[in-house]
Amino acid sequence: MAANVMEIYGSKVFNEHVMKERLPSATYKSIKDTLENGQPLDLEIANVVASVMKRWAMEQGATHYTHWFQPLTGITSEKHDGFVSPMPDGTAIMEFNGKELIKGEPDASSFPNGGLRATCEARGYTAWDPTSYAFVKDDVLCIPTAFCSYTGEALDKKTPLLRSMDAISHQACRILKLFGKDVPRVTTTVGPEQEYFLIRKEDYEAREDLILTGRTLFGAPSAKGQELEEHYFGALRPEVSEYMKDLDNELWKLGVSAKTKHNEVAPCQHELAPIYDASNIAADHNLLTMEMMKKIAEKHGLVCLLHEKPFEGVNGSGKHDNWSISAPGMNLLEPGKTPMENLQFLIFLAAVIKAVDEYQDLLRLSVASAGNDHRLGADEAPPAIISMFVGDELSAIIDAIADDHEYNAPAKAKIDLGTAVLPKFSKDTTDRNRTSPFAFTNNKFEFRMPGSSMNISDANTVLNTAVAKELKGYADELEKAEDFDKAVIALVRRTLRDHKRIIFNGNGYSEEWPIEAEKRGLYNLKSTVDALPCMISPKNIALFSEFGVMSEAEVRSRYEVELEHYCKVLHIESLTMLEMTRKQLLPAVNAYMAEVAGTAATKLSVSEKISIRSETKTLEALSAQADAMSDCVDALDEAVAKAQSQGDNLSMARCYHDTVIPAMEALRAAADKAETLCSEEIWPLPSYSRMLYYV
Ligand code: ADP
Ligand code: MG
Repeated sequence: MAANVMEIYGSKVFNEHVMKERLPSATYKSIKDTLENGQPLDLEIANVVASVMKRWAMEQGATHYTHWFQPLTGITSEKHDGFVSPMPDGTAIMEFNGKELIKGEPDASSFPNGGLRATCEARGYTAWDPTSYAFVKDDVLCIPTAFCSYTGEALDKKTPLLRSMDAISHQACRILKLFGKDVPRVTTTVGPEQEYFLIRKEDYEAREDLILTGRTLFGAPSAKGQELEEHYFGALRPEVSEYMKDLDNELWKLGVSAKTKHNEVAPCQHELAPIYDASNIAADHNLLTMEMMKKIAEKHGLVCLLHEKPFEGVNGSGKHDNWSISAPGMNLLEPGKTPMENLQFLIFLAAVIKAVDEYQDLLRLSVASAGNDHRLGADEAPPAIISMFVGDELSAIIDAIADDHEYNAPAKAKIDLGTAVLPKFSKDTTDRNRTSPFAFTNNKFEFRMPGSSMNISDANTVLNTAVAKELKGYADELEKAEDFDKAVIALVRRTLRDHKRIIFNGNGYSEEWPIEAEKRGLYNLKSTVDALPCMISPKNIALFSEFGVMSEAEVRSRYEVELEHYCKVLHIESLTMLEMTRKQLLPAVNAYMAEVAGTAATKLSVSEKISIRSETKTLEALSAQADAMSDCVDALDEAVAKAQSQGDNLSMARCYHDTVIPAMEALRAAADKAETLCSEEIWPLPSYSRMLYYV
């Protein structure tokens, strides 16, 4: 098996190894230059690459190619074109040229654009991102691309991410230069841990809510939840183990470095973590992972649920975004071994602290969605308040620097910055707090708020850009400094003093924290609707424009797309609830009442003396529930109509949040109560116990 892994790993990827082997050496050198230094590729080179790529892809069984891109829906899109090209003599040749490799022209009119592109100008184009390797999937050569309008505005999630990577690289290089290190490029790295649920296909197919919305809109809690805490890291069920092996294999073929797999906290919940990679590649690979998770589940008679909250009452799924900054041969968030290295580490640490504090709102909204609203702040995932965990040890050091007093470390490392060496933090001391949204874990930060179904590009774009902004401020200041060391220390001290409020090492789930956070002046943006308007605040628009990550028009278009998306999700969920109640649940309740009434009547027909107390109680209770459900249906109907009649996207989103969601919750409560009163045979939906505890 082990030998096999080495053989299959990357076998479907047009990676550097293949390029080196197959491309003429001059072509290979040009493409390396593009990969390493972002040099544009000229058409002649692209023609050679395309022809070699086509031959290689055909050997892998590919007959078609597609530009593989990430429109604002967040998922990936592909439009397959055949290599086949008919000849006048009735035969055909297989063709693929450099122009087709570099640029595609999908019809942009069916993708969300938030008003960026007039519908009459339907054209958009996709442009190859050569830093993310092409691969073959389902007999199609997939070329990772960015997606833009004809006027050059980004219509996707990848373009701003790539721009943000350039921004932070440029500023980080300036800082490193001041430390005497001349590096061509700095890269942000990401390792996203992906959580997911697996349930039986037959249960999934029996539930319209799962099919249409990805989550259960009804369902009384199972007698057993996750309270026994037996699932986390528990032994894998054989069918799940088979699934995971199959998934690993397919991912490895695609060059996705799936590394760790285990059971998660909730029943039927699992996690997969890859080895980290450059942010854009990590985002591409995470999207591929999600796609494969779904596809392979079907082969095993299972369905993979990537929704943030498929089941009420048990933990939902997130995606921990492990993030760091690296230059050739160094992780810039690794505490150093010498005073100078420490100083450099402290600069980058300070930049992240300042960035997270100043752009809390942007980070929060980068993970805002209707689905994720169910998780954040519900005591199973971080609260909606952004704060940073750095551990007691680093906290004490930060305090010592900020307040200019001596630090007495356990390891007796005195911290007067000029002479001291920061102690190497042990993993144990930094990774214990699971309630923090943004935790320093040894040599990287772990952003724990992203939802399981999200494209991680948004969060990473914000992170990269905000840190770039702070590094730029530092570089501007330090490049002018006369005494460099002194200036660095002063700057670090000032930053830590001014931004200490964002550091919180306590329990993020506690009742005291929101009160304390408010005192500190931190944002508490509870829902997507609270968070989204921050996107278009002057401060945030200025940030994105300053670094060329997004123009004001691009930011505004995203704001509209997100609001619209939020409304659509809630609209679909409401309609699904209404339909299920009218067509499935109320009829079931009525059928069961008829059955119980029938039993009572039969009993009485035998003898008036037989008790029908149990039937009467059930009937009274069920009848009340049926009335409640019916009233709730009317109320939800009205609420949806009210939301739909709002004039603009923000008012509509607010109305869905304030009026429709409570009406949905009331209907669910009434129906779930009815479920507990009805017989299992008559209830038309697989129960929570059945779905979560299948064997
Ligand atoms: P855990 O969080 O469970 O303790 P690890 O810390 O080993 O596990 O890793 C979690 C994820 O963090 C993995 O995907 C790993 O590749 C990623 N990771 C590790 N180092 C870095 C780094 N320097 N930059 C980005 N991600 C990283
Ligand atoms: Mg982790």
